[in-house]
Amino acid sequence: MTFQAFLIKYAEIGIKGKNRYLFENALVRQIEYGIAQVEGSFCVTKASGRIYVNCLSEYDEEELVEALKRVFGIVWICPVMQIPDEGFDDLRRKVVAYMKEMYADQDITFKVEARRSRKNYPLNSQEINVEMGEAVLQALSGARVDVHKPQVVLRIEVREQFVNVYSVQIPGPGGMPIGTNGRATLLLSGGIDSPVAGYLIAKRGVIVDAVYFHAPPYTSERAKQKVIDLARLVSRYSGPVQLHIVNFTEIQLYIYEQCPHEQLTILMRRYMMRIAEKIARKNGSMALITGESIGQVASQTVQSLCATNEVCTMPVFRPVIGFDKQEIVDVAEKIGTYETSVLPYEDCCTIFVAKHPVTKPNVHIIRKSEERLAEKIDGLVEEAMRSIETVVCRPVG
Ligand code: ATP
Ligand code: MG
Repeated sequence: MTFQAFLIKYAEIGIKGKNRYLFENALVRQIEYGIAQVEGSFCVTKASGRIYVNCLSEYDEEELVEALKRVFGIVWICPVMQIPDEGFDDLRRKVVAYMKEMYADQDITFKVEARRSRKNYPLNSQEINVEMGEAVLQALSGARVDVHKPQVVLRIEVREQFVNVYSVQIPGPGGMPIGTNGRATLLLSGGIDSPVAGYLIAKRGVIVDAVYFHAPPYTSERAKQKVIDLARLVSRYSGPVQLHIVNFTEIQLYIYEQCPHEQLTILMRRYMMRIAEKIARKNGSMALITGESIGQVASQTVQSLCATNEVCTMPVFRPVIGFDKQEIVDVAEKIGTYETSVLPYEDCCTIFVAKHPVTKPNVHIIRKSEERLAEKIDGLVEEAMRSIETVVCRPVG
């Protein structure tokens, strides 16, 4: 069956009141962006509290639904038949034909759920339920009514211009449309956790920029390309990601030269946060995002997180802070970043890592160590800021 429209349902919570249209307009924009690459001609419309994707040409349903499943803010995707109102007999005939095509020769339990936004329709909702229920029972030998836990809910919505008929609801990703919740900057490494963190914050409607610290020649072009690829994968959900690539080599070497090696990771992480914050501020971001999770590694104990956090003045969002590794992996697999994340390229954090890093850094000692960097560090940070390379990452293919 080919559907001429898809009804898009979104969450009601938090969007009532006078800001509702902002949310809806953002969702329309994001749907348009999300389906731009899908072959065919579509028109996204807003009609009395409903959003529709109208299909104006031939299209591939699977491809369209896959694209819609990546648009944050969508809760359900419903392929609908839109039937012009030509009387109830006509509607009954068309609904029966629909049910036969969808569920012929199947044993199903069902119920009819009618709603009218047009109150002058000759039948009320309950009458439609009864009439349609009987018609379907007569036409489909395998059908039984179950009003409590039906396998199929046949929805009939009488609107002003037409009647919507549908019985399939495909889950969307949920969340809020991108652009409804400001901008934040993700510290994106080549690992499993940070792309997931970026996805989770984008899911709440936040535009995500990214920063990657590389250390050539200690980290390779391939490692950098991997991070660009990850940003592209995240951009399938979040929209274009501005990725700022920072050359961190001189700063790392200087810390290595001047400071106790067991503190290297913490000191590096503090400079990463400082630089990320400078970049964020410059680009209108209001927060940072990391893929940290309590206790995962030495630099993510609560003491280490405190020592890292101390240098930030912006809020730092750590959406996977309470996730176990496997839970993060599950999300990475679901969103399609896992396979790229596990490619075995070097990371700047692992190259300079000490054998026995501190797990409970004392911030006073860490600050003391940083005093040893006083002579050159400001200049090196400025130089790193000057040499930033920015790549706009969009979905491939
Ligand atoms: P991930 O899987 O995201 O790489 P991880 O378990 O390897 O995380 P760490 O290396 O301790 O953890 O990094 C913690 C967080 O710091 C990362 O999630 C990321 O947000 C940020 N980060 C680490 N290395 C880099 C880097 N080279 N460039 C940008 N951000 C980084
Ligand atoms: Mg990492």
